[in-house]
Amino acid sequence: MSENLNPFAIAQAQLDEAARILQLDPDMHAFLREPMREFHFTIPVKMDDGRTRVFRGYRVQYNDARGPAKGGLRFHWEETIDTVRALAAWMTWKTAVVDIPLGGGKGGVVCDPRELSPGELERLSRGYMRCIARYVGLTKDVPAPDVYTNPQIMAWMMDEYDMLVGHREPGVITGKPLPLGGSAGRDDATARGGIYVTREAAKVLGIELAGATCAIQGYGNAGSFYHSLAEELLGMKVVAVSDSRGGILNWDGLRATDVKTHKAQTGSVLGFPGAQTITNEQLLELEVVVLAPAALENVITARNAANIKAKMTAELANGPTTPEADEILYKNGVYVMPDFLCNAGGVTVSYFEMVQNAYQYYWSAPMVHERLDQKMTAAYNAVHRMADAKKVNNRVAAYLVAVDRVAQTVRLRGWV
Ligand code: GLU
Repeated sequence: MSENLNPFAIAQAQLDEAARILQLDPDMHAFLREPMREFHFTIPVKMDDGRTRVFRGYRVQYNDARGPAKGGLRFHWEETIDTVRALAAWMTWKTAVVDIPLGGGKGGVVCDPRELSPGELERLSRGYMRCIARYVGLTKDVPAPDVYTNPQIMAWMMDEYDMLVGHREPGVITGKPLPLGGSAGRDDATARGGIYVTREAAKVLGIELAGATCAIQGYGNAGSFYHSLAEELLGMKVVAVSDSRGGILNWDGLRATDVKTHKAQTGSVLGFPGAQTITNEQLLELEVVVLAPAALENVITARNAANIKAKMTAELANGPTTPEADEILYKNGVYVMPDFLCNAGGVTVSYFEMVQNAYQYYWSAPMVHERLDQKMTAAYNAVHRMADAKKVNNRVAAYLVAVDRVAQTVRLRGWV
């Protein structure tokens, strides 16, 4: 039978496994299996040619027992409500595993942002905010950037919200540009958090990271910053990187500054001087110490899991590994640093951004890094201890830590 790749079915199956091990109360389990609220809407946008195009938008508030819903907003042509539901569920577990007082949410718009002019992108972003303005806010639900959204889009959305409510409320959205209340260190936070987790895991495994090889699939915010930070902070040798068009490989190493310049000039990592061209599939199967899937969901599946030769995977993407693949990796001794632990640095610094917005006083980058390190290290240790105690893989362990924390607040509120 072929594998079920519906992301929400996967998120529910992962929760079911955690519920079984935790012997979670069946009513609590039923409650945590579904999103608490979701919004579906149409966004009419005036296009440059004078026509109006109607886009489909979603916002899912999966669970807000621990605090306001929190999570990014994706602009993607393959976005579906089930993908948004899964991502919102993972945000719930992510904020819990790093123990910040927030719930989980996610948004999405079905669109191809690469085909939109800057004016169309701005009108779509403002249109999205007009549709959700009454359901979001500092104490309700706080969006942020994700795949194909960025600080400029956050700025337009914040401005639209401010105009609608008639006052300034920077904490309504995070990942803003610095002059509008963004946080120092938010730009590379997802990758930096992943670097701290990689460092801690390597200590436990007794792996020397200086000079160790690394391959990165995906060269957006998470992947490209993981490249430079892996070099800078861990002394690793990144030998392969890729983007949606394909990958490049050079066993002597690829320097982050050079690859970034090349991508900025040509639009892709492909054609980088001195490197051999490979496919995304080949990149995943390289014999490296660290493999970082940093693009989209479902890239390590039952089909290729047995071919993964990395010692450890640093999941910077959300949902890159399917449950069947997880079992194969665990059996083969591949050490997985699971997504909602490994990529929680972004939302952690988003939380720091909300805190700074609330008291209108801003921290230095070294202070952000230090506090992020504390959060990520503590989260990794909690998951590692759980995996050891229960003899389960790291993803299951992360679920055990997170679900228990969320369930506790649901119970205390008297919802179940
Ligand atoms: N989109 C990021 C994530 O998936 C960050 C979310 C946030 O900062 O709220 O974790």
